[in-house]
Amino acid sequence: MVTIVDAPDGFSGKGFFATSFEHAIGLARKNSLWPLPFATSCCGIEFMATMGAHYDLARFGSERLSFSPRQSDLLMVMGTIAKKMTPILKEVYIQMAEPKWVLSVGACASSGGIFDTYSVLQGIDRIIPVDVYVPGCPPRPEQIISGILKIQDLVGNESLRRRNSQQYTDLLHTFNIE
Ligand code: SF4
Repeated sequence: MVTIVDAPDGFSGKGFFATSFEHAIGLARKNSLWPLPFATSCCGIEFMATMGAHYDLARFGSERLSFSPRQSDLLMVMGTIAKKMTPILKEVYIQMAEPKWVLSVGACASSGGIFDTYSVLQGIDRIIPVDVYVPGCPPRPEQIISGILKIQDLVGNESLRRRNSQQYTDLLHTFNIE
């Protein structure tokens, strides 16, 4: 049973609300994501529509795209990833500063899609950790926005200490990332 107690003196009343440092940081981070669009094929076109005036990703604080891994915190992989490209994708992920998140957009990025062939990576989670998957071939802009909202939920609720945890280090080690 949860017992709600009264706020201590000085922490309630008009113009006040109490929160934690972690939640304040989470709120700032989730509403100012800087995506790096790693778009290789048709799903990338859907992303362009998502950035356009009609769907307007700017409403979610993510209009500042970055093509530099050092200045981005959300890697959006959209399209078919040929095996030849996997070292590049992995390098981009490694170069991104912590904390960082990964959104896999569409069937190709998530599972190889219709390209069940020797030359295509059968899902980017074979080389880097993925936080949210967006299904579809191609997903509509609404689905991409839904994926961003799910990422925002993760970002807003993530513990500030998660990236320093042994569990996170172990996760990276499973992908041979130091
Ligand atoms: S999932 Fe479909 S739309 Fe997206 S890149 Fe692959 S083939 Fe193209």
